[in-house]
Amino acid sequence: MAPTGKPLKPHESVGPTGPTSPTGPTGPAKPHAVVVGGGIGGLTSAIALHRSGWRVTVLERAASLEPVGSGIGLAPNAQRALDVLGLGDGVRELAAWRGAGGLRAQDGRWLVRTTSAATAREFGGALVLVHRATLVDLLVGALPGDSLRTGTAARLADPGGPGRPAVVSTPEGDIEADLVVGADGINSAVRKELFPAHPGPVYTGFTAWRLVVPAPERPFEPHETWGRGGVWGTQPLKDGRVYAYGTALVPPGTRAPDDEKAELARRFSDWHDPIPEILAAARPEDVLRNDVWHMATPLAAYHRGRVVLVGDAAHAMAPTLGQGGNQAIEDGVVLAHHARPGGDLFAGLAAYSAVRVPRTTAIVRQAARTARLNHLSHGGLIAARDTLLRAAHRIGPDLIVRGFASIADWQPPGPPYAAETDAGAHGRAPARR
Ligand SMILES: Cc1cc2nc3c(=O)[nH]c(=O)nc-3n(C[C@H](O)[C@H](O)[C@H](O)COP(=O)(O)OP(=O)(O)OC[C@H]3O[C@@H](n4cnc5c(N)ncnc54)[C@H](O)[C@@H]3O)c2cc1C
Repeated sequence: MAPTGKPLKPHESVGPTGPTSPTGPTGPAKPHAVVVGGGIGGLTSAIALHRSGWRVTVLERAASLEPVGSGIGLAPNAQRALDVLGLGDGVRELAAWRGAGGLRAQDGRWLVRTTSAATAREFGGALVLVHRATLVDLLVGALPGDSLRTGTAARLADPGGPGRPAVVSTPEGDIEADLVVGADGINSAVRKELFPAHPGPVYTGFTAWRLVVPAPERPFEPHETWGRGGVWGTQPLKDGRVYAYGTALVPPGTRAPDDEKAELARRFSDWHDPIPEILAAARPEDVLRNDVWHMATPLAAYHRGRVVLVGDAAHAMAPTLGQGGNQAIEDGVVLAHHARPGGDLFAGLAAYSAVRVPRTTAIVRQAARTARLNHLSHGGLIAARDTLLRAAHRIGPDLIVRGFASIADWQPPGPPYAAETDAGAHGRAPARR
């Protein structure tokens, strides 16, 4: 899928140690940003930094970029961030949901029934479900040609500082960098190096299964269903398949005695249609399972020295709002806005932390609150919750979606970053960052 990069030269050095680079034979050398991790956060950061004038190298330890075979929801906030990189419309074209859908109870009653058009009005754009491989292909296609080095596990050796480069170690040698982006995911070793006293992620209490299968024979309305101690979702993909997911409260590390498809059948086959049909269409190898962890204790800052964290490395969250990857995309675009070549890097990284810590911390907390609400397991509490949801939806549909609408409402940084690139020509008013 993604190109496999060439190995790094031993002890490759970037030369400049700060944003004021020396002049080379063809003009000032570009400062060098090294991105550790080629997931959604690392790829987006690399594209954004490249477009704002950095030379970028992405170091990915996996031999190739093969994202897990599941879907990912991209809300209008992430689509606007991708607009800055000229990629937003490519995502919008993949919107598959047309017509009715919403939130259901385990027996199939609608708790909140809405339409794709109403949702788009409330959230300022469509919610788009894409296959992860599609998103990764889109991002890799926008990277500069020789910037991705797969099969390269990296370690932060020195965070650097004013007058001193950061150093990243790889099996092929050390690399000096003007900026290091720690995009190495929830178990980030870069985060541990920067903030060794931080307790790290904790278990949310639930596990998640994901699968992509052919669409059911009978038409279905996309739904998320809140049942007893778990959630099920069935969402269409543009390519005609269906992305489905289920969650359940279990101790961490629990695994099915036979296979995860059988476990899903035990837990969900008596839920409403089309869930049994989706399960019947799945093969055991289609089902992915991950325990869900999150950063219950927020970091006070996302940077130290010349190193900055993006995505799950900074703020892993429960997937109940579908915002982990969306926030990683926002991070990359906001980072490139503040860390501009020729500017004061340290002030730029401080500005990045100043805007990203409050926003992402609030979303991590909101996702955790939603996880508590949609994993209730006591019958009386579930009945009370469902009654309240139905009543609130009748009184004012926007009451239910207000919390998410305020997340989806985000606008990327305005000029000068967006204005100075050849992408992002959507002419949006500068707004919240
Ligand atoms: C069940 C579930 C459903 C979800 N649904 C959604 C959704 O609908 N919408 C949404 O926005 N988000 C969703 N998320 C969250 C989303 O998947 C993550 O937030 C997102 O993938 C984080 O991207 P990242 O780039 O920060 O980290 P990752 O995707 O984890 O990427 C980190 C990369 O770093 C690499 N790496 C690690 N260590 C090193 C090293 N030492 N050297 C080099 N490379 C290294 C890894 O191999 C990996 O490729 C969901 C998560 C789960 C668990």
